[in-house]
This record gives sequence, C-alpha cells and structure tokens, in this order.
Amino acid sequence: MSDTSFEMKNNQLYINGQWVDGETDNTYDVINPATEDTLATIAYGTRVDAKQALEAAQAAMPAWQGLTVYDRSVRLKKLADLMRERCDYLAVALTLEQGKPLGESRGEIMASAATFEWFAEEAKRAYGRTIPPSAPNKRIFTVRQPVGVVAAVSPWNFPIVLQARKLGPALAVGCTTVSRPASQTPLSLIRLFELMHECDFPPGVVNLLMGPPAEMMDEFMENRICRKISFTGSTEVGKELIRRSADQVKRLSLELGGHAPVIIFPDVDIEAVAKASVIGKFRNNGQVCICPTRFYAQKTVQEDFIEAVVEETKKLVLGNGMDEGVQIGPMFEMRGVEKTDRIVSDATSKGARCLLGGKRPEQFDKGFFYEPTVLTDVTADMAIMTEEPFGPVMPILDFDNIDEVIEKANDTEYGLAAYVLTNDLTAAFKMAEGLEFGTIGINDPVPATPQAPFGGLKESGMGRENGIEGMDAYLETKNVSIILQ
Ligand code: NAD
Repeated sequence: MSDTSFEMKNNQLYINGQWVDGETDNTYDVINPATEDTLATIAYGTRVDAKQALEAAQAAMPAWQGLTVYDRSVRLKKLADLMRERCDYLAVALTLEQGKPLGESRGEIMASAATFEWFAEEAKRAYGRTIPPSAPNKRIFTVRQPVGVVAAVSPWNFPIVLQARKLGPALAVGCTTVSRPASQTPLSLIRLFELMHECDFPPGVVNLLMGPPAEMMDEFMENRICRKISFTGSTEVGKELIRRSADQVKRLSLELGGHAPVIIFPDVDIEAVAKASVIGKFRNNGQVCICPTRFYAQKTVQEDFIEAVVEETKKLVLGNGMDEGVQIGPMFEMRGVEKTDRIVSDATSKGARCLLGGKRPEQFDKGFFYEPTVLTDVTADMAIMTEEPFGPVMPILDFDNIDEVIEKANDTEYGLAAYVLTNDLTAAFKMAEGLEFGTIGINDPVPATPQAPFGGLKESGMGRENGIEGMDAYLETKNVSIILQ
C-alpha cells in the first residue's frame, strides 16, 4: 500500500460519544517520518475541550460504574475482536505516523487487543476481603471501587499499546477516561476510537483529545473531576507531574524512561544471542522504553559476540516501514536523529570505536533515517552510559564476574528492564535477585505481557501496569467496619 491511498475518516476530537472540532477550529499536520509528507490534518483542542471531556467522563461515570463487570467486559472483548479483525486498518496508520515496519505495527495491535481482553477477564476477579475482627460483634470487609475519571497520557513510540495498558484496566473496573496521545501520533488512536464507537461504549465513557501537552495537563492537574493521571513518558516530565500532583493529592501512575543492561554469560550460544540482541536492540530503532541499551559480554566471549553482532547488523534492511521486507524504518523525528548523532560523536570523541553506522544513510533523500550503529571501547563517562539513548546505537562492553557486572548494571538512576543470557541456574538467580530493575528477562527478549506486572524501580516510574497490579492501580479500597447491635 502506498501513502497516497491513506485517508482518515475522522480527524477530530472525540468527546461525549461524538467527533467534534473543539473550541476553536485550530488544526495541525501529522507528518510521515519516512517521507516527510503530510499524512493528515487534525483538530487541535484547547484546555476548554479538556474540561468538556472531563465533564463528559464525569457524567458518564455513575452509569458505567453501575453496570456489572460482565456488561463492561462484553464491550472490551468486542473491541479486542474488532481490533484483530481490522488489524491492518490500525497498523497502517501506526506505521505511517510512527515509522515502525508494518509487521511491528501489526504486533502492537495484536498485543493491545490481548491487553483489552485480559483486563476484561481479570476485572471479574477484583475481589475484596473479609477481615477477622478483634471484637465478637464486629464485622469488617473491604469494598473496591473505581478511582474515578482517569486521564491517560502517552508518548509516540507505542501509541496503541500504551493506551491499552491504561484504558483496559480503567474501563474494566468502571472508571471513565480521557485519552491524550502525543500530538505527532494521533492517527492510529483515532482509528481505535472509531472501533470503540462501534462497541457501544456509552457517550462520555471514553474521550480523546489532541492539543498542547502543557495546557491539557494543567486541566488534568487542576480540575478535581480528574481523579487520576496515568502517564507514560520521560522521567523529566514524570518528575514535574509528581511535584504538581501535591496540590490535590492527585493519584499518579508513572511509566518513565529506562536504560536497560544486557548481560551475556559465556555458557550461551553466542551467535544465537547476537542475532536476538540485534533484533531487540534495533526494533523500532531503539525507541523503546525497555530497549536494551548497554551490552555487557563476559570477557572470554566479548570478541565473538562483537563479530557476530556486526555480521547480523549488516544484514538489516532499512527503508519505509510500509515496504515489504523492511526491518528498520526511519526514526520518529529529526530530533531523534540529531540526539543519536550527538551521543555517537560524544562517545567517539572520548575514545569509543564505531564499528558500523554512526551516520545518516546516503540512499534516502527524505525521511529521518539513521544507520544502525555498533560501538565498542565504551566507558562510563560517555553520554550513552547515562542518558537514555532512545536511538539505534549498540554499545558493547565487557565484564569479568557476576558481582562486578551487577554493580555496573545497577549504576544508573533508571530501573525499568534488564536482560540476562545464561543457562547457569545460579547465575540466573543471582541476577534476578541482584539487579535493580522492574522487569528482568532471563533468556527472554520480550518480557512485557498483559498478565505480568510492568514498571520501573528508582527513577523509571511509580506503580505498575499490566497484571493484577495494573488493575489495582484503578481501584480504591474502602474499609467497612460494622458493629452489630
Ligand atoms: P515526553 O515525556 O516528552 O512525552 C510523553 C507525553 O507527555 C506526550 O504525550 C507529550 O505530549 C506529553 N508531554 C510532554 N511534555 C509535557 C508536559 N510538560 N506536561 C504534560 N505533558 C507533557 O516523552 P517522549 O519523549 O515523548 O517519550 C519517550 C519517553 O517515554 C522515553 O523516556 C521512554 O523511555 C518513555 N517511555 C516509557 C515507557 C514505560 O512504559 N515505562 C513506555 C514508552 C516510553
């Protein structure tokens, strides 16, 4: 399919069950990062629209909360079915606006459908407790209720799955929602809302806003209707939200940045691990919060690992994510290309060796492409070791023993994900217990899944998404204590 065949049916805000222009008729253009062409012109809302969306969500809350979880689940399961049926309708919009290859977009849609479906099931088990009292005539039990209207704010790298991790549990337990995606990637989410519209969510239960980030956040923070903000994005903005949330003790869930180590022990099949590492590293150009960013190969196998990585990386096919066979699309924005270039230059100026890449490819006239890059001789003083790189750069370091590598891996303020490659049970347990990261994949390059908790330690976030923890995040627990007369 070519870009020219792409057309949006809707390009407006979705408030109270209707597609609307918003307070003004302001619009903005969404750009294709592979061609730099304009894909669509979209309504750009204001704070007044955010207020209206919150009010619509508040008005819808009593009836939605009043349904049984079985009734709410039917709609969520219907949504999951529709997403699978119309996977390409969503995936094409996602690839065009974000840049990732179409196969990856399809994977994101399927994972998002699985997320909605899992929470539709799990909410049926949002049990409370009866608690043994300390007096014979007392009875104590808990009641679990939805937290209220939720604002769901997400970044551009996974526009659908990151919304699904918020909307899935929130809607299933009876909250109503206002979604605000990154302005640059609204198209796939607009299409998802078209499917939601078909699923008979009552007006006001789900709302979608595009508009200036700070202004929208001001409304979410200052309007008491909004009881919780679930935010995925950078640690920098996350910290600002923690500071601002104090005024109303606003509930926050924060999924923030990462800097994931990969630790390769000598007992593994180095060629197979190199192959998987290259796929994991360059997926979505490294623009993934749990992307592997620092590779520590044990000294005895480091040379073999480097050689195999370089061979595998050379095979990667760059191009427009819509084209058959393309494995690596453009980066999302020119800003990302410039940051990657800066990080690579910083490393080479301090003594790193660039074995592959390190520049923009020459074969494209347009688009935000950057060559997959492999660095060695990397040291702790280089920016790539402290800043979240969010780009296609693979630094390979070495280590001697377990204690040393645990210390090196933990030497960061981030704590989102870590990966370990070993068949040695003792090493695996030591790593699982010693690494300070919220998700640890042992011989597993894709450890994020709807049924298991996902989130960061240290400055990588607060709270968890997915799993029962991800559902609890949208529930308040009341203690009811009764004295029998
Ligand atoms: P970002 O923090 O700049 O933006 C995230 C969202 O917040 C966007 O919708 C943006 O429009 C909005 N935003 C930006 N500035 C804001 C402000 N001052 N007030 C309110 N909202 C604001 O992040 P980004 O650069 O777009 O996304 C990449 C970051 O997201 C990386 O750090 C990545 O690791 C992180 N991320 C984390 C996870 C996770 O699950 N932990 C998943 C994906 C991405």
